[in-house]
Amino acid sequence: MKVALVGIGKIAQDQHVPSIAASDDWELAATVSRAGSVDGVVAYTDIDTMLAENTDVEVVSLCLPPVPRFEYAAACLRAGRHVMLEKPPGATLAEVHALETIAADVGKVLFATWHSRMAKGVGAAKAALAGKTIESAHIDWKENVRQWHPNQDWVFEPGGMGVLDPGINALSILTEVLPAPVHLKSGVMHVPSNRQTPISAELTFTGGVTASFDWLKTGDQLWQMRFVATDGTTVDLLDGGNRCLVNGASQAISELGEYPALYARMAELVRLGESDVDLSPMVHVSDIMTLCHRETAPTFDW
Ligand code: NAP
Repeated sequence: MKVALVGIGKIAQDQHVPSIAASDDWELAATVSRAGSVDGVVAYTDIDTMLAENTDVEVVSLCLPPVPRFEYAAACLRAGRHVMLEKPPGATLAEVHALETIAADVGKVLFATWHSRMAKGVGAAKAALAGKTIESAHIDWKENVRQWHPNQDWVFEPGGMGVLDPGINALSILTEVLPAPVHLKSGVMHVPSNRQTPISAELTFTGGVTASFDWLKTGDQLWQMRFVATDGTTVDLLDGGNRCLVNGASQAISELGEYPALYARMAELVRLGESDVDLSPMVHVSDIMTLCHRETAPTFDW
């Protein structure tokens, strides 16, 4: 299938382009970006022109930041194309619901991707926790924003989510592996005095689940979570979900990496004619923005 990539920036270059190139399912037929392009691929700066001139492109994969993404997604669906959304799937829940409605009306596939759910150890953790009752769980998602989002001011603008942009990756794993859903009870988020979105957050959910998100971590980066079940089983997900230990023992993990697995899933969804839109990680982010105490943190500059 021919796919077009929109928003040729960090994640498109780091993950989408190589994953498409390595797959037998996909051919990168066009890009749309105001400045970015991919060697050897026809480049457009305008989505409508790309859609009009490439009627054989069945799928459009949107790698833009969340705020500008809705207009592009709606245009692609209305032009009769299947659409793949980077995480988080939109700036608001309502706009993703609107996209679901458009996709259903035009009979096209909408895939709200969660790349961290495809991390290699997530399936093993889910299997180990199935049927158990969780006594406690803790997430540490602590990384250096200057390393992973250099000069991306959009993350600190409304809709950019701040530390919840990586935090939603942890929440996408949590909502996948927990045997029963939880919801936010309380929390504190710290917002730099010159920015709009949090740079760290401490969260308490029902079911004994807590989370600590920090975007100023230097040195070793920490993307891990531990679950303790009432029967004493411990499950550790390490390295962003790519390693799983059950009672301290390493588990067999899946072979495909996160983005190759997302493109394989999209190929499957198109073959089945089914959409896949699970907004539960984004519901938690919306709750965090609604319920948390807000404390002012020192100014943040790159
Ligand atoms: P990015 O590099 O800042 O942005 C991607 C591209 O989108 C930019 O190069 C830009 O291309 C285009 N763009 C930016 N603002 C735009 C606007 N207002 N209107 C139209 N186009 C715009 O961001 P990214 O890091 O790739 O992240 C994009 C998405 O992927 C986010 O939702 C993020 O959460 C997700 N993601 C990022 C990472 C990561 O490590 N960075 C990892 C996984 C997922 P042009 O200037 O050429 O138009």
